Amino acid sequence: MEDDIFCMIIRGEIPSTKVYEDEDVLAILDISQATRGHTLVMPKAHYKDMLHCPGELLHRVMDVAQRIGQAAIKSLGASGVNILTNAGPSAGQTIPHFHVHVIPRYDVDTGGFEITMKENTDKDLNLPVIAQEIKEKL
Ligand code: AMP
Repeated sequence: MEDDIFCMIIRGEIPSTKVYEDEDVLAILDISQATRGHTLVMPKAHYKDMLHCPGELLHRVMDVAQRIGQAAIKSLGASGVNILTNAGPSAGQTIPHFHVHVIPRYDVDTGGFEITMKENTDKDLNLPVIAQEIKEKL
């Protein structure tokens, strides 16, 4: 039995604001609400991040994330949605229980969320070599 905060929410030991629930998947409002409607979608079974989640369950989580994104457009008046997951502390993951962020975006930005791709200062970026390294382990 895992003791991360999402496992405790799934077991009903601490409160949450539920948006969706079925046998395998739970979606709750993020307590920090980067934007209005910011939702976390997660499997009820514990997997530490997306990379460790079995494919079939991953698809079910992503299906719910898609539906919540669609609902954010239809119901909340969002004009776009960021759907993302952090895998590992270096990627910004703070809770080690796989979850997908669904972050509605609005034309009138009230702050709270932004993605910025910064220039990579690593000079050793040989694209064919990088591609080959990835391909070797696919
Ligand atoms: P990550 O940094 O990708 O691991 O995201 C973890 C998210 O969980 C953050 O956006 C937090 O605001 C959110 N969070 C932390 N505690 C709770 C909680 N008790 N209920 C809902 N969301 C939470």
